[in-house]
Amino acid sequence: MIVVMKLDASSQEVDAVKGRLEGLGFKIHPIQGVKRLVLGAVGDRKIATSLNLESFPGVEKVMLIMKPYKMVSRDAKEEDTIVKVGDVEIGGSKVISMCGPCAVENEEQMIHIARVVKEAGGHILRGGAFKPRTSPYAFQGLEEEGLKMLARAREETGLPVVTEVINTQDVELVANYADMLQVGSRNMQNYSLLKAVGMSGKPVLLKRGLSATMEEWLMSAEYILAEDNYNVVLCERGIRTFETYTRNTLDISAVPLIKSLSHLPVVVDPSHATGNWKLVAPLAKAAIAAGADGLLIEAHPNPPEALCDGEQSLSPRNLKRLLGDLKPFLKAVDRY
Ligand code: PEP
Ligand code: MN
Repeated sequence: MIVVMKLDASSQEVDAVKGRLEGLGFKIHPIQGVKRLVLGAVGDRKIATSLNLESFPGVEKVMLIMKPYKMVSRDAKEEDTIVKVGDVEIGGSKVISMCGPCAVENEEQMIHIARVVKEAGGHILRGGAFKPRTSPYAFQGLEEEGLKMLARAREETGLPVVTEVINTQDVELVANYADMLQVGSRNMQNYSLLKAVGMSGKPVLLKRGLSATMEEWLMSAEYILAEDNYNVVLCERGIRTFETYTRNTLDISAVPLIKSLSHLPVVVDPSHATGNWKLVAPLAKAAIAAGADGLLIEAHPNPPEALCDGEQSLSPRNLKRLLGDLKPFLKAVDRY
């Protein structure tokens, strides 16, 4: 349920509404918009329908949210959410890019690519230190050593860092090094992990599950917001279809659709969506045209030698070229 407070509601009036709802077992999520305060109240639907909150002083209107996701919904918050990662704003006036290798391999590789990302005009550095691999025999990541390399690359370039966390035990460790925690596709419905990253208070990049519907994806985001962590960015990274020429199928319709259903920023990962570096540029352009707030792009100093996802990674030259080529598209949507 959403309780919209009047523009001039006093703090006593707000407290009275909160007190009444909390007394009935509702959890309150206050959302301060530009103009007015909205109280998200999550609790028993039957009690919610029987309440006469509109008669409380300071209450403008009360709305029941019929959708299963509540706090992530546009009904709960009309304005776009801006998620801050370091000094970078995701969901604001600019389309941002997060670039870097699939996996952190060694310090030289990380520093090299971090400088390339910076020079190319990228905003956030990515790189996996904990890798969720399909095969248990494949490179699993450098773990804490990798996190230290990411932190050094941040020191070197000033770029904030996003990196994946794959289990609850490591959330604290990863949060000590990273500016943003990534929850990968394979873990989109790992509910204890979602709660743990929610409780960490860090910005979260939540990738869409391999075969997740948009509603399931939004429900996973709801888990994070339910822990009072509103700093969630959704990442469309392709879904599994019958097509085999591409690694996944980029669901470009998810961008405008999710942005209409939710106030959270949406970014697109054309690298995992296609599995083919040659398709990254056209799909990055399509993502901008569709209204994406950012791009997640894999890049490696020497893609043929990459330990992970080399076939979809851009070389330094191709990354610089792409970020340059995107400029007219960013101008066209007035977000540069
Ligand atoms: C990644 O970003 O490196 C990754 C493993 O992505 P996904 O979870 O989308 O497969
Ligand atoms: Mn990858």
